[in-house]
Amino acid sequence: MTDMTDPAAPMRVLVVDDDALIRALIAASLDKLGVSDIQHAANGRDALELIRVSEPPVDLVLLDLFMPKMDGIEVVRHLGGGARQPALAFITGVNAALLGTAVHIASVRGLRILGAIEKPISPEALTAIVAMYRKGVQTGRDKVGMVVSTAELREALQAGHLELHYQPKVNLKTNAVEGFESLVRWRHPELGLIPPGIFIPIAEESGLINALTNKMFIAALEQYAHWAAEGLTTKISVNLSARMLVELSLPDRIAGEMEKHNVDPKHIILEVTESGVFQDEADSLDILARLTMKGFPLAIDDFGTGYSSMAQLRRIPFAELKIDRAFVSGAAGNAKTRTILDSSVALGKKLGLTVVAEGVETADEWKLLADVGTDVVQGYFVSRPMPAKDIRDWLKGWNEIRR
Ligand code: C2E
Ligand code: MG
Ligand code: MG
Repeated sequence: MTDMTDPAAPMRVLVVDDDALIRALIAASLDKLGVSDIQHAANGRDALELIRVSEPPVDLVLLDLFMPKMDGIEVVRHLGGGARQPALAFITGVNAALLGTAVHIASVRGLRILGAIEKPISPEALTAIVAMYRKGVQTGRDKVGMVVSTAELREALQAGHLELHYQPKVNLKTNAVEGFESLVRWRHPELGLIPPGIFIPIAEESGLINALTNKMFIAALEQYAHWAAEGLTTKISVNLSARMLVELSLPDRIAGEMEKHNVDPKHIILEVTESGVFQDEADSLDILARLTMKGFPLAIDDFGTGYSSMAQLRRIPFAELKIDRAFVSGAAGNAKTRTILDSSVALGKKLGLTVVAEGVETADEWKLLADVGTDVVQGYFVSRPMPAKDIRDWLKGWNEIRR
């Protein structure tokens, strides 16, 4: 295996973010990856000027999507027409359908777009981006288009290189494990473990998302059946992309899979991201309603980040509301965020939904969520997502601490 993070290959990285702390954190992580030639810009204008004059030229730009004055989309617009076109990866604090759009815009404008990473930036995501950059240079791939191509993703899917990791969901009152969310990762033979934020937008743009979600659904089902056979009865949550809610036969097909694996749908929670754009509203609602009729609980994912949360809550029979981590991590220090968190929890409870908080990282956040009446938490404070084989040991440890 070639070492894709070979520090010998020099590269100049420009980090563009209005938050100085985030720039510093990224610079520190990059340094660990052997990238020491790092430039900073606090806004889009400075970034464009730096790219124009930098000697040696900037190789890779890590670009915040939301910035005052000039946002990331505008920077992309100028870069697209410019003489210098470094490779690009987006950084974003919002987990939104917007990311897919931004990636698409950059690609249409002819830029080499490596993907998108969510804040807080994990070292794994950054490693993947740097490795992808270096791989592109090595293979001399076309500047236009993504380094991780649709074809490569399709091959990975067929070769079984996509795998599920599982993150526990824990009851705030009893500390009991309520279930696990399945989260896809790409085990790339050269680039290592690639997080979904980097390839889900590509899958959505290319239409591969259907095949991907189907395959992951079946993998989760098999895992469920495997655990059940071992005496571990739990629930597994599966993410459905809003973009795949176009196939009217989906409910019958997945109900068929449930029968084949002899699993009661009540154990498989289907998470639908509310920021996802429905292609056809009637068809999407048709599918969601029939999934509920077949016995699947539905969860509204990333609540608060979308455009039509209230409308969807009213129309779709959700069983669970998952509050996006943006409203969890910011709540302790920001009165507005705290109010949104409080109100979202109250809203969910009044509607009779199980309220789950995502992205709980600290004991303070845990306590705050308990105070506002959240039912279930999920986050690094409890555990990071882990391979299925690690779950037994983790459960053992968790149940010991609980007592
Ligand atoms: P999501 O469904 O909202 O999943 C939660 C994300 O938050 C996961 O990111 C998880 O690793 C991360 N997370 C959990 N706890 C914490 C925490 O305490 N701190 C921080 N900073 N992050 C935390 P991940 O695995 O990178 O997945 C990102 C998104 O990709 C998911 O967001 C989901 O929308 C999508 N996705 C993941 N797996 C699949 C899949 O199998 N199919 C489809 N269609 N989408 C998927
Ligand atoms: Mg989810
Ligand atoms: Mg979520």
